Amino acid sequence: MSLGEKLLDLFFPPKCPFCQRILEDPRAPLCPPCRTRLPWLEGKAGERTIDFADGCFSPLAYRDGVPEAVRRYKFSRVQALGRPLGRLMAHCLEDRLPEGADLLCWAPLSKKRLRERGFDQAELLAREMGRLLAIPAEPILEKIQHTAPQSGLEEGSARRANARGAYALRSGADLRGKRVVLVDDVVTSGSTLSECAGLLRMGGAAQVWCLTLARARGDR
Ligand SMILES: [Zn+2]
Repeated sequence: MSLGEKLLDLFFPPKCPFCQRILEDPRAPLCPPCRTRLPWLEGKAGERTIDFADGCFSPLAYRDGVPEAVRRYKFSRVQALGRPLGRLMAHCLEDRLPEGADLLCWAPLSKKRLRERGFDQAELLAREMGRLLAIPAEPILEKIQHTAPQSGLEEGSARRANARGAYALRSGADLRGKRVVLVDDVVTSGSTLSECAGLLRMGGAAQVWCLTLARARGDR
């Protein structure tokens, strides 16, 4: 553990992201009771299809204690909350893609939303995963349009229209022949992920996999 991490643990003792108990094992992503009670998705239940992607994996269903943990992380200024969630996702990636990946990226926030929030939660999850798995995490995509939050839109078609054209590949992104993993916190309709996966394909990615912490309704 680096000095920075030790200091972080001192000021923000790692808590279970789902129930807020202080973790006895500070390197564990969650506490033992939550490991038992959370809505884990095993096998096919944790997979879904996303247009332009080879597959999409999520370790958890978006219910029970999960939505609250995601909200707490998203709207808290304590970025350290993302570390155990990133660790959980890193375990999922190792599990689902034992061959690993060449690159991690994320569906970024708009500049406006980034200013409001102070940090990009998907970026932090990707960076934590990259650190743990020794895979580069890079800002490959950018949000070029400020859109309404997807969470305010019910219909899949409204979400697709809202996501269309909202993202772009950053100039200089070289994805040729790479296995790319696109990271986000929650997948609902999948329209943001498919929009981004299509761009990664156009950028030359050989494979595009999506990985989200949780999977909400809107499943296919
Ligand atoms: Zn817990």
